[in-house]
Amino acid sequence: MDGRERFFAAADALGCLVCPKCGHPLVRAGDNLSCGSHLWNVNRRGTVNVLSFPHRDAYDAELFAARRQVFRAGCYLPVLEALEDLLPAGPQRILDAGCGEGWYLSRLLADRPECSGAGADLSRDAIHAAAAQPCTALWCVADLRRLPFADGSFTCVLDILTPASYGEFRRLLAPGGCLIKVWPAEEYLREIREARGLPLYRDAGVGGWLGQHARIDAQRRVTVRVPVGPALWAAFVTMTPLNQDLTAEEKRRLIHMPRERVTVDLNLARCRFG
Ligand SMILES: [Zn+2]
Repeated sequence: MDGRERFFAAADALGCLVCPKCGHPLVRAGDNLSCGSHLWNVNRRGTVNVLSFPHRDAYDAELFAARRQVFRAGCYLPVLEALEDLLPAGPQRILDAGCGEGWYLSRLLADRPECSGAGADLSRDAIHAAAAQPCTALWCVADLRRLPFADGSFTCVLDILTPASYGEFRRLLAPGGCLIKVWPAEEYLREIREARGLPLYRDAGVGGWLGQHARIDAQRRVTVRVPVGPALWAAFVTMTPLNQDLTAEEKRRLIHMPRERVTVDLNLARCRFG
């Protein structure tokens, strides 16, 4: 199946696309999605861009290539295992909000074929990379504050290291659905922070906020110290948004100060609203 047909297969399985401009259901019209008034092209890769404003990616293709390298090396497998552990049983309808190159969603759908899924990201490069993942999911370039899905479309929303749009997540969750939130714990990427002279992550109060506004029914903390050679160190340095403020020269210097380990330290919480 080519990319576009895979997109329409995923859209059929979910059956919840709505026009981000007018809110009417979107149906297939040739290579497009149509609400009757607006057309959205599904490209050959099998993605759709529903952004209503021009957006220049802060994250470039090089960053996503580095992320692929880090994921392929298995550095985040313990995080995936914790996610699988938190994902409720049964045929879930999963939205990965801020899915990046789609590694988590793709792996979850591979391990849980009874589930269906969609991934959305503001970055076109990310969604292009996601469309190359070996799974049938609906990938779209979209504003996380205004996603092209009907109310109550998903039983589970994943928010992995992405600024949250809690109002939109609540709108998209079906009754009884859950949000699985992943955010940095204190030692996340400590070796990179130390090499840059930065303090450890300060708790931004995510857990406290969730505890006040939602019901947390399960929590995990994943802490792994990943052994890295120079190539994997370089990939970590390149992939993290933490280093987006560095010039190319500063980044090169950091790449040439490899450490032997990188700490992945993340909090996960599964919570429900209302
Ligand atoms: Zn419309």
